[in-house]
Amino acid sequence: MKRTNGLAMVMVIACGAMAAAIACAEDVPSDGYEVHDMRRPQPVAVTPPTCSTQEKPGSAPSDATVLFDGKDLSKWRSAKEGDGAGGDAAWKVSPDRYFAVEPKTGNIQSKDEFRDVQLHVEWCEPEGITGKSQGRGNSGIFLMGLYEVQVLDNYQSPTYPDGTVGGIYGQYPPLVNACRPQGQWQMYDIVFHAPVYQDGKVVKPARETVFLNSLLVQDDMELIGPTQHKELTKYPEAHPDKGPVMLQDHGNPVRYRNIWVRELKGDRPVPPVKSSKEHYEGQH
Ligand code: MG
Repeated sequence: MKRTNGLAMVMVIACGAMAAAIACAEDVPSDGYEVHDMRRPQPVAVTPPTCSTQEKPGSAPSDATVLFDGKDLSKWRSAKEGDGAGGDAAWKVSPDRYFAVEPKTGNIQSKDEFRDVQLHVEWCEPEGITGKSQGRGNSGIFLMGLYEVQVLDNYQSPTYPDGTVGGIYGQYPPLVNACRPQGQWQMYDIVFHAPVYQDGKVVKPARETVFLNSLLVQDDMELIGPTQHKELTKYPEAHPDKGPVMLQDHGNPVRYRNIWVRELKGDRPVPPVKSSKEHYEGQH
């Protein structure tokens, strides 16, 4: 006979009522879970995204915060500091449902701030971009406004490996160069976990997994600190709890479309500690 856990039921109902991607904290029984334990909370149902094509961006999953869906930059602002800080994003939205870096106007960042996330971003190097190495279609995606995943035209154009597209800038080269040619839409899927601090010290460094065009290019990498150029980075004494998604103006008109983010909250599921018995009600 299955025991009904009142608190777990309330939490499942409460979570079901929430539109955002908020995982419930698990109300783990004191004696732990069995394999196939029916007391575990049911996963929240989410409508998955649809796939993009070169011609048309796909849709976001139902529990995502959509940062750009082709219409406007209302979810973004200028990342400039000092005079004009927090003003409107100066980059231009195209009728073709993308926006492009407006060179020399500065980085832009999401108005919302996040911590641990799954982030989806599509980008395209317009045909005709010239230059070489870091001067060829450079932009970047900064998690928490601090940690850059490189955007660069590395199709048959090399640069220093830890600055290659798919690289965690200044730290880790990508496992492969999965870059497509100019004129084609490319796709990042990033899982980022912020560093954990205790008493002013890092007890758990930031971690990042990156897929570029569906290929794994960063496999759960431990970051050594926020992104720096030429300097060996380290974690600062104070670190924000949350931060924006920031896109880099590196002077090249890189295009972006279909940007959404899912916040990763709640506890990770715990493993079962015993074989199926009292709480198993499944089919064979
Ligand atoms: Mg860059």
